[in-house]
Amino acid sequence: MSENSSNNAQKDEHKNDFIRNIIRDDIKAQKQQQIVTRFPPEPNGYLHLGHVKSICLNFGVAKEFDGVCNLRFDDTNPTAEKQDFIDNIENDVKWLGFEWSGEAHHASGYFDQLHAWAMQLIEQGDAYVDLQSPEQMKENRGSFNEAGTPSPQRDASVEENLALFTDMKDGKYTEGKAVLRAKIDMASPNMNMRDPVIYRVMHQSHHQTGDKWCIYPMYDFAHPLSDALEGITHSLCTLEFEDHRPFYDWVIEKVGFATPPHQYEFSRLNVDHTLTSKRKLKQLVDENIVSGWDDPRMPTVAGMRRRGYTPEGLRDFCERVGVTKVDSVVDFRLLEFSIRQSLETTTARGMAVLKPLKVTITNFAEAVSSWESLKADSVNARFDDAAQTLWLTQPNHPNVDMGEREIPFTETIYIDQGDYEIEPPAGYKRLSPEKPEIRLRNTYVLAVTEHITDEAGNVVELKATIDPTTLGQNPEGRKVKGVIHWVSASQGVPATVRMYEQLFSVEDPSSVADVHQALNPNSLTELNAVVEPSLANADAGTRFQFEREGYFISDSEDHSTDKPVFNQIVSLRDSYKPA
Ligand code: ATP
Ligand code: MG
Repeated sequence: MSENSSNNAQKDEHKNDFIRNIIRDDIKAQKQQQIVTRFPPEPNGYLHLGHVKSICLNFGVAKEFDGVCNLRFDDTNPTAEKQDFIDNIENDVKWLGFEWSGEAHHASGYFDQLHAWAMQLIEQGDAYVDLQSPEQMKENRGSFNEAGTPSPQRDASVEENLALFTDMKDGKYTEGKAVLRAKIDMASPNMNMRDPVIYRVMHQSHHQTGDKWCIYPMYDFAHPLSDALEGITHSLCTLEFEDHRPFYDWVIEKVGFATPPHQYEFSRLNVDHTLTSKRKLKQLVDENIVSGWDDPRMPTVAGMRRRGYTPEGLRDFCERVGVTKVDSVVDFRLLEFSIRQSLETTTARGMAVLKPLKVTITNFAEAVSSWESLKADSVNARFDDAAQTLWLTQPNHPNVDMGEREIPFTETIYIDQGDYEIEPPAGYKRLSPEKPEIRLRNTYVLAVTEHITDEAGNVVELKATIDPTTLGQNPEGRKVKGVIHWVSASQGVPATVRMYEQLFSVEDPSSVADVHQALNPNSLTELNAVVEPSLANADAGTRFQFEREGYFISDSEDHSTDKPVFNQIVSLRDSYKPA
C-alpha cells in the first residue's frame, strides 16, 4: 500500500469513532428527524487548537449526516466576556471552513425563558433560594465520604422562595448574599447533584443584554436548556463534563421536554509542548510574553492562521487524531505533518537566502554574453543590458500549474552561509575548497575560486566563475553534484524572516506552576534574509515554499513589498511519520 492510501484508510477508520457510531444507530432507529449539533464557546478568549477539535467534530458530523450545527455563545458570565471575542470566534470558525446554521445564537438570548423555567422549578418545589454565605455553603456541601448538611432555607415554602427570587432579580441582594439552588440530594455521591447553584447575583452589565439583569444563570443550568431550546440532538462535550451529565438530564426532565437532547463526552485534545487553556494563554498575552493572541507561536486559531497554517491542514490533523474517550497527548509533529502535506501542492516556490554570503562572479559579463547561443532549448530568458541582468523565466511549481515568474541573475549573488565550508564535515555535499563546483538552481554551474575570511576566520565573501556552457544543461566531460539556491544581490530584496521553535521547552507546560520556567528562549529568531523579487512582491498572507528551506508566509500584519516579512510555517521535512 502506498503511504497515501494507508493514510486514507487510517482516516476512514477514525470516522468510525464512537460518536459517529451512536449517530448512525440513532438514524437507523429513526430517533430524530435531523441531526443537530452545536459548538458552544464562551466568549472570554480566543479559540485554540483544542477548540478546533470540537469544531471539526460538531460541524463535521452535522455535515456528514445531513444535519446542521449551531454556533452558540455560552455567555452566562459577563465579567470575562466581550464583543471582540465574539467577533474573533465567528471569524475563526468561518476561516476553518465551517458554516453554522442561521444566525449565531447566544445563551443570553434565552435569559427570559431561563428565568421563567427557574420560576417553574421553584413552583414545582425543585429549587430554593439559599441565603447562606458562600463559605457556609462550601462547608455544608460535605465531602466525598460525608453527606452534605441541608441549608436552613431548603424547606422554605414555594411562596417564600418565589418572593426571595424576585428580590434577587430586583437587585435587593448584593453578590454572594443569595443564590438559587436546585433541590436534589445533599447526600448524593456525585457532588454536582448536591443542590447545585443555578442562578447567582451579579451586578454587571452584559455585552448583549446591557443592564437588564442582575442575576445570571449558571452554565450548568443554561447549557442543557439552551440545547433543548435549539433542538440539539447530540450535545458533544469534553470528558470533564461527564460528572455533570446527571444534572444535565435532571434539568431537562424537570423542565419537561418531549424530545430531550443527549450529552456525549469525548476526550480533550492535548498536544505536547502546547498549552490549550484560554486562561493560561491569556496570561502569555497579558504579560507580553507573546506579541498578542495572534502571535504566530500561539496555538490559537488567530496565531496559527498568522503562522500560515492552513484550514485544510488543521482539519486533516483533527481527522487523524480521531475521537475517543481516552485522554492522551498527541505528538505536535503530527500537526506539522498535516500542515506540511496541505502545502506541498498548493504553494508556489521561490528562492530566499536566509543567512546570506556574498558571491562575486568574476567572469559574469563575459560568460553571459553568449547565453543565447549556449543555452539549452528548455531555457526561457532575456538579458537586460542596462541592468546587466539575465532574467530567467521559471514555473512557480515543478508539477502543478501555478504560472511563471522571472528570476534575476546578476554578477553579485548571495548563497547561504551553510552552503560553503572551509573544513566540511564528513558526507558534506555542498561547496568547499575540495569541492568547488555546484549547480545554481535554475541557472549556471558555479565554481568557487577564492574565499575571503574576516579576522575571526569566518568566510565573508566568495569569488567564483560560472561555466558559460551550463545554462540549463550539464557540463561536458564531468559530473557536478548538488544544487543550491541563491538570490541576486542587486535585484533581490532584504527581508525579515522569522524562524520558530516550540514556545515551550517542556513537554507538558501546563504542569509547570510558573509558566516562565517552561518557555523556550529560542522560540523566535529573526533573520536578515534576502529574497527574490517575486517573493517580496507578494501580497501579505501569501504562502510559499522557499526552496531547500521550508514553507513560509508573508506576514499578514507587517509584510510590505519594500520591507518584506515572512513567518516560517513549517520545515520542509521531518523524519516523523504518523502511525
Ligand atoms: P478553556 O479550558 O481553554 O477555557 P473551555 O472548555 O473553557 O476551554 P469553552 O469556550 O467553554 O472553553 O469551549 C467550547 C467548546 O470547546 C466546549 O464544548 C469544550 O468542551 C471544547 N473544548 C475546549 N477545549 C478543548 C480541547 N482541548 N479539546 C477538545 N475540545 C475542547
Ligand atoms: Mg468552558
